[in-house]
Amino acid sequence: MLRLVMKFGGTSVGSVERINEVANIVKNEVVQGNEVVVVLSAMAGETDRLVNLAKGISDSFTPAEYDTVVSSGEQISVGLLSAALNNMDINARSYMGWQIPIITNANHKSSRIESIRSETIINSLQKGLVCVIPGFQGVSNEGRITTLGRGGSDTSAVAIASVIEADYCDIYTDVDGVYTSDPNKISNAKRLDKVSYEEMLEMASLGAKVLQTRSVETAMNNEVLLRVLSSFDAKENLKEGTLVCDEDKITDKRVVTGITSSLNDTKITLVGVRDKPGVAAEIFMSLADSNINVDMIVQNISEGGSTTDITFTVPKVDADKSEKIMSGITESVPYERIIIDNKIAKISVVGVGMRSNAGVASGMFNVLSDNGININVISTSEIKISVLIDENKAEKATKMLHKFFELDK
Ligand code: ASP
Ligand code: MG
Repeated sequence: MLRLVMKFGGTSVGSVERINEVANIVKNEVVQGNEVVVVLSAMAGETDRLVNLAKGISDSFTPAEYDTVVSSGEQISVGLLSAALNNMDINARSYMGWQIPIITNANHKSSRIESIRSETIINSLQKGLVCVIPGFQGVSNEGRITTLGRGGSDTSAVAIASVIEADYCDIYTDVDGVYTSDPNKISNAKRLDKVSYEEMLEMASLGAKVLQTRSVETAMNNEVLLRVLSSFDAKENLKEGTLVCDEDKITDKRVVTGITSSLNDTKITLVGVRDKPGVAAEIFMSLADSNINVDMIVQNISEGGSTTDITFTVPKVDADKSEKIMSGITESVPYERIIIDNKIAKISVVGVGMRSNAGVASGMFNVLSDNGININVISTSEIKISVLIDENKAEKATKMLHKFFELDK
């Protein structure tokens, strides 16, 4: 007997037909004698619709009420699935986040889970019930409904899997796993049988959409085994997907595991800032105060030691806000001009094998140069190299790198 958390995303529960299919996938596990907790997203498009309703009232209203509205999509999907399971003579019931409860902090719209009362779930499982729990929603210590941020139901599933000590947290989605690159763009991208937490964390934060970044972090910290599986061609007893696990469990090691490409960044350059202590601190503190996540940073060498240029990237959605912040600090940080560039792509090569293999960076840069692609900014971590290039070259760069690192083999 296995104890499983099965999470289904919005497209997997996007219609009544789909919900019936999901019920069949769940039933298949139950009849094998497994204990099952189901975590669901709202039906596809529903959360967007609710966000728009909220925006129709105003752009900024009480965050607690926003959460009350946008968390409601999950209430519908869990009710419908429990009903579908009952129709198949499977003992199942729905819970709301507050009925468990899933306690979060009160940072509405992107709350973090603080605790989950696992007894509620385990007692139900021991009575032979399938627990159907909404992802994305929780309740604060003040008793208000909270949400975990868009895509947060992945994190709900992992956190629940962790507290009930599930054997696996299965994330059912519309693709059958994690690929070496976006299969919609790179036709010979290959599905990975296994990927390490760290690599998945990098890939998720670099724009691979299969898993919410925070869910991978939670899985890594609690050693929850994650499987990414397709709900569209779920085969009986055959779990062909991607296992996200500890690096030690991966035997066929490659130097590079995946290539990501994202168009979600804006490059900002401050030309002619003073080259003296405190300038960078002032710039990045002002951005941090507004919760803007800066990713890449480069500072040029100053000519003659008086002024220099600082370039950094911020999420595209924060570009306008960042520009305003920069124009607000000109008294303490004077600069000649600001250049905003939205037409950039960030291409990253990810792989734990980089730790022990030299030459990945030079290989990457050679491929780009052979294809006449200019690099604007470079940043690295232990297992990742990212470059900024012209957005029109993104697809070509990804294809060439995918081939060079033999990810199609
Ligand atoms: N329904 C929420 C959203 O669309 C949470 C999720 O699906 O993960 O963001
Ligand atoms: Mg999702």
